[in-house]
Amino acid sequence: MQSTKASVDSLFINQSQLGRESFRAALHTSIDSLLDQWQKDQGPYSGILPGKLAASVESLFQLQPSGESMESVFQDIQQHLLPHLVDVSHPKCLAHLHCPPLIPALAAEVIVSSFNQSMDSFDQSGIASLVEEEILKWLCAKFSYGNLADGTFTSGGTQSNYMGLLLARDAFCENTWQWNVQQKGLPSEAHRMRILCSKNAHFTVKKSASQLGLGEQAVVLVETDEHHRMDLNDLKKKLVELKEQDLLPFAVVATCGTTDFGSIDPVRDVYDIVKPYGLWIHADAAYGGALVLSETYGNKLDGIELADSITIDFHKQFYQPISCGAFLLKDKRHFGLIHYHADYLNPKEDELDGILHLVHKSVQTTRRFDALKLLLSLRLIGEEGFGDIIDHTIDFAKDVAALIESNDHLDVINPEPEINAVVFRFKGADDINKIIHRTLFKSGAAVIAKTVVDGQTCLKFTLLNPRTTITHIEEILSDIVDIGIAHIQSGRVLR
Ligand SMILES: *Cc1c(COP(=O)(O)O)cnc(C)c1O
Repeated sequence: MQSTKASVDSLFINQSQLGRESFRAALHTSIDSLLDQWQKDQGPYSGILPGKLAASVESLFQLQPSGESMESVFQDIQQHLLPHLVDVSHPKCLAHLHCPPLIPALAAEVIVSSFNQSMDSFDQSGIASLVEEEILKWLCAKFSYGNLADGTFTSGGTQSNYMGLLLARDAFCENTWQWNVQQKGLPSEAHRMRILCSKNAHFTVKKSASQLGLGEQAVVLVETDEHHRMDLNDLKKKLVELKEQDLLPFAVVATCGTTDFGSIDPVRDVYDIVKPYGLWIHADAAYGGALVLSETYGNKLDGIELADSITIDFHKQFYQPISCGAFLLKDKRHFGLIHYHADYLNPKEDELDGILHLVHKSVQTTRRFDALKLLLSLRLIGEEGFGDIIDHTIDFAKDVAALIESNDHLDVINPEPEINAVVFRFKGADDINKIIHRTLFKSGAAVIAKTVVDGQTCLKFTLLNPRTTITHIEEILSDIVDIGIAHIQSGRVLR
């Protein structure tokens, strides 16, 4: 028994000397191994492809029935795990909308996970629920939402987009047929319901439509203009066509920061066009939402306050560790469409007594206290600090686009980046760009993205990291051009 008591004291947080020391030792060992890894100053990835990682995975799974010491486990972690993770904080890691995390947010993560609060009910979260509500109020105000607004933290953009379309669907059924989807499921006319978004909108619009029982057929893609934004004339045309076909457009998704180009659909114009039709406007600002903190570029989000709901992703340009996102709602009464009472969790009498149970606003039940990460980041670096970082990356992306344009071997697809993504290609056959992408990844020298624009393979830098310098970019471009030229030459030799 004695030994069990000792071992649980070393395994769970408690006041004993053993508990305190175990907590400190575990976190210190973990932090030291990270610092050791970063000390090595390797590239952003070991370059090893999945087929060759099996031996490392096997070493990590040498499970001992009665467990092991921290030292022996961390030896394996350091040898077999850390070197093969993608180092998102490396200045040459530029592939996706995948940010280097802010150090203050990492400190918050320790508190979030150690206290392990759950945001569904007040008796599992205490003040955490109030803190989350306060951050949401701050966000609603930032987006110029009025007094009726509210929101919830989510796991990210996917869940936020899903919530926007879920509420839009249910509100439409309620208003059109006095039909309660929560109670009765989809009405028989649901197959006629349509969602509009630009062809550059995120794939989760289609994914949500299918999960909401409307099918991917419900999503009508609107053409884009030369800046990759929703083409307003085509939006008007599509609306007329849908009406002529006796279909029921009920929502439009305006993307504020598309994944490839960061382009921003003009929400105010979209609003003017769809207002006579009574459509729900959902602004997917997963990427561009952070511009709200920029003095210089905040006006790019003009009109976003007209949207009925907004997606924001903090694990992108807000530099929060995954996961961290939010869903904002202009009229909080719409949360009533997904309201449930569970006797054990949020009984009606508690609500009447003013006790806060946030579960009614979320599609999740158990939910992390991610709001603390954002609070600590805001306290430590301030809104201006955030704004400066964001502005820097946008200005930097312009310099990078100009640098690429000046290179005879390369073509820039978006010479004036809207946010901080730059899309370009090595001139020549399409497969050269695929080869460059793969070769660069395998070399471990840089991690960049690949995408397809108008049928052509392109390369992409997503310049979220404010520590990336023009020298880093020059080095990557030189690698890219070398690989491209070597490929052409080897091709000539072979032919
Ligand atoms: C990233 C992204 C999403 C999806 O968000 P997750 O956090 O990955 O779930 C949705 N829309 C846009 C525009 C995005 O950039």
